[in-house]
Amino acid sequence: MKGCEKMKCPACGSRAVGKVGADQYYCWDCFVEYQYYGNNQAKLYMVEEDGSLVEY
Ligand SMILES: [Zn+2]
Repeated sequence: MKGCEKMKCPACGSRAVGKVGADQYYCWDCFVEYQYYGNNQAKLYMVEEDGSLVEY
């Protein structure tokens, strides 16, 4: 099982990511939140200042 690949930011490649939910991660380098679906498809979100998520 290669779960560690999910701990890499799909936007900038950084490994400085934290888990924020089920298959949901946040990158501390580019401030992008991302979520993985079925076959390793990542969906990216920008986090606004008020905490809302906008599709990247
Ligand atoms: Zn990143």
